Amino acid sequence: MTQAPARPQSGSTFESLNPATGEVVGTHPVQTAEEVQAAVDRARVEAEWWAALGFAERKAHLNAWKTLMTRRLPELADLVSREMGKPASDAMLEAGLAVDHIAWAAGNAKKVLGRHHVSSGMLMVNQSASVAFKPLGVVGVIGPWNYPIFTPMGSIAYALAAGNAVVFKPSEYTPGVGGWLVQTFQEAVGRPVLQLVTGLGETGAALCRAGVDKLAFTGSTATGKKVMAACAETLTPVVIEAGGKDSVIVDADADVEAAVDAALWGACSNAGQTCIGVERVYVHEQVYDEFVSAITAKATGLEAAEGGKIGPITMPSQVEVIRSHVQDALDRGGRAVLGGAGAVGDRFVQPTILVDVPEDSLAVQEETFGPTLTISKVRTMDEAIEKTNATRYGLGNTVFSKARGMEIAERVRSGMTAINGVITFAGIPSLPFGGVGDSGFGRIHGPEGLKEFTYAKAIARQRFKPMINLTSFDRTAKADKQFAQVLGLLHGRGRK
Ligand code: NDP
Repeated sequence: MTQAPARPQSGSTFESLNPATGEVVGTHPVQTAEEVQAAVDRARVEAEWWAALGFAERKAHLNAWKTLMTRRLPELADLVSREMGKPASDAMLEAGLAVDHIAWAAGNAKKVLGRHHVSSGMLMVNQSASVAFKPLGVVGVIGPWNYPIFTPMGSIAYALAAGNAVVFKPSEYTPGVGGWLVQTFQEAVGRPVLQLVTGLGETGAALCRAGVDKLAFTGSTATGKKVMAACAETLTPVVIEAGGKDSVIVDADADVEAAVDAALWGACSNAGQTCIGVERVYVHEQVYDEFVSAITAKATGLEAAEGGKIGPITMPSQVEVIRSHVQDALDRGGRAVLGGAGAVGDRFVQPTILVDVPEDSLAVQEETFGPTLTISKVRTMDEAIEKTNATRYGLGNTVFSKARGMEIAERVRSGMTAINGVITFAGIPSLPFGGVGDSGFGRIHGPEGLKEFTYAKAIARQRFKPMINLTSFDRTAKADKQFAQVLGLLHGRGRK
């Protein structure tokens, strides 16, 4: 994605704007590196208190926050809608799923992270071995604007449930939503275990350099590289949740009507500004014509407009990216069966469906982040998988097939796949979320998401004296011989 344009800025504040109308939604401070450092220092004190509470008390606090949020969801949805443009009903869906993640993280942290015994093995049979996952301390979270609740919450809720304090830098496009989340946490918990820092890119960069114990970044691949470089200076570990170029694969035996519905919603909801949004479709030649005419018919009449089902493009600079991808596709022999170059307006982009687009064009290879879709005909599912895997991204994808869903899903190089549904994995809190390649690394959600914000603490406790003491200078030649014999019995008898 291109660099975000400079925000309206006056002195040390900046404004968040309604992308549908240009109206000012709120004014927020541009926080300096010193202010970010002060927030991290405060968070360090809070982290000690929070970690000492233990799982049960943290769960009670997080549930109180979740309840407060749930009661005030319409207010939050309205704010999201004004600040980033999505319809309020979509914002409710996003917020509701985020709340469900808080509940899961709080409810499962003890089971996933609490101390548990593991086998000590034959050579160390006199030992009792156990592992627990300890909080890191202070986690910095840098979030995007496209899902300003759900996306950062994947890091915030899991980091908090694991016992960390969090300093959150929301996108400059959605600082009000970030503030709302932090304010309600303060109301529910009464202490600033979750803190807010606002500003532009430099404030995010300052958070990377403020000595946090881990930095969870969600945003574009290009910014992810900058974040990683800044964090490398202090050996601060990072989670990178970056962009995607997800496909829908439609097999010959698929329920075409369901696949059409899923592909269209996956491509155009949130005005296509979804990291796991559908940007490409590969359809088996036996159902290709049926699919193209059905999706074109269904998309006709779907309009991007103020108050419509599709909102505006949040980031003004993105409109040019979308325009360039559509134009490149058309210049290179692609056809628009719906929309096209004229569908890209100043603030709104109308649904655009492109066919016959070469696989190496921008619309197939780069993240478009608009309500656009390329559809390609394939002869086999092997070809669909090969083409799906031929981008540098690997975030999510979807497969529609009655007989071969699992088989196809296993061969797609992506962090997540939905079979006969779209984006469903994101709403299942027990499933890890994240990508490979340019989509980043590390996981949020699920047990893996909890562990991401911890370090493993291993303990070996001697239960009785060993027959052969291996870890002593008193070890005898006889002991060495016995060790070699035991080793031979354990590992020397297999096939060469
Ligand atoms: P950006 O990369 O532009 O920004 C992401 C965040 O990084 C913002 O808070 C931004 O602040 C901040 N930032 C900018 N520059 C720096 C810097 N030098 N150091 C530290 N932080 C910085 O992404 P977008 O906000 O445009 O989000 C859209 C992108 O996010 C898409 O590529 C999308 O695919 C991806 N995404 C990935 C998801 C996933 O889970 N994999 C989920 C959702 C989105 P500011 O806004 O103030 O510039």
